[in-house]
Amino acid sequence: MALKDFILKYAPIVVQNVGISLYNTFLYSQRHKGRYKAYRDYYRRFETAAAPDVACEADRRLHEFLRAATQQSRWYGNHQGKSLHEFPILEKTQLLANMDSIRTMEEKDGIVSLTGGTTGASMKVIYAPHDMQERFALKDHFRARYGYSLGKKVAWFSGKSLVRPKDLLRGDVYRDDYINKIRFFSTFHISQQNFDAYWQAFCQFKPEYLVGFPSSVYDLCTMAEERNLKYDGSVTAFFPTAETVLPKYRETISRVLGCQVIDQYAASEGAPFILQCPSGSLHIHPLTGVFEVVDENLQAAEEGEILVTAFTTTGTPLIRYRIGDRIKLAPPSFKCACGSSFPVVEYIDGRTSDFIWSPENGKVNLGNISNCTKDVAGIVCFQVTQSEADSVSISVVANDQFTADQQQHFLDAMTLRLGKSVAVHLHLVQEIPREKSGKFRIVKNMLTPESMSPAALQRN
Ligand SMILES: [Zn+2]
Repeated sequence: MALKDFILKYAPIVVQNVGISLYNTFLYSQRHKGRYKAYRDYYRRFETAAAPDVACEADRRLHEFLRAATQQSRWYGNHQGKSLHEFPILEKTQLLANMDSIRTMEEKDGIVSLTGGTTGASMKVIYAPHDMQERFALKDHFRARYGYSLGKKVAWFSGKSLVRPKDLLRGDVYRDDYINKIRFFSTFHISQQNFDAYWQAFCQFKPEYLVGFPSSVYDLCTMAEERNLKYDGSVTAFFPTAETVLPKYRETISRVLGCQVIDQYAASEGAPFILQCPSGSLHIHPLTGVFEVVDENLQAAEEGEILVTAFTTTGTPLIRYRIGDRIKLAPPSFKCACGSSFPVVEYIDGRTSDFIWSPENGKVNLGNISNCTKDVAGIVCFQVTQSEADSVSISVVANDQFTADQQQHFLDAMTLRLGKSVAVHLHLVQEIPREKSGKFRIVKNMLTPESMSPAALQRN
């Protein structure tokens, strides 16, 4: 057993906290080495640069990235001198199967990042150290616009499993990094039974910033509101990660904690960045890569799936990578009040598999599904699972306000979106487990692509 695992399993909490503090400090020092400082300056300088200067620099970066990839990656070896649109599209399955010929370096020379794919297969991507330094420099630059810097008090809600069963019995639901002033909350145990422990630890810590899963912070806020609790501290900003920020998350979290919710998009296998500006728009950062928006036939579109080319993936070059997320671009005439020339995205729609298939209505996306709870009383959280084209199963955690009337109301809203040909089965449950990654999923689509056609229904 590695020392780290041993400490996490057996050591007293205070020893674990010291270990976490030292380990984190070590990680930060790694990320802040090398080109980190230069990239902080770089991103600060280009934040306010004129549009032609940004375009020129974006071109230079693309050219340099493609040149290096074709020279160093076997997979791209015979594409030298091509322009971006002449490169093949890279599918997720290809990335998984051909990792060794795509990557440009050995694992030991890079930084390995593991991500859970939607298929359940986990993906391993290798970053060059300077890729990571650049990504962290941009992230820190972005957060600094909202006053954040390392050392300010942060409450973190991520998918790390930190808390043991015996800790839970004592109400220990977090770990502390004393040096960098970070409290890591477990996102696996936010429930009615454990609420008091979470709320007490949160209020006593009084974080200035929050980082992590929006669904977890939302759960905590909803439970506080149910109990008429007021938060008497003041959170400056919440930086959500990993999940789509639904409108109801944003509203509830701002209302309960009094903070701004500042969204970002940057998938862990290495997408370019989309960052929210102080005027509330989501801007593509053109110096981090290229987003091509395409329709179902992979032709250029205003709204649809994205193909990403990310300049910070020199260790595992991603060129026209079909990452599985969707965006809608704002009209080119739209000028953001913040003054930035960076292109604006109207919305980012999580993973493309986050939808329910309706033989009548086609894909019903996550946002529409989650809207079914509007004006329905008593739902704490719910999850829709679809294994057949003509039926879905919905698990609901509810309180006693979820009366027969309200249930009908909810089912009507669901049927309105899914169409009459989809049978809806409702189950009241005590709890809905999170995924292994710690993320909560509202929608679980288990259909194969073949079953998502109108003909599939007739076969049944
Ligand atoms: Zn803006």
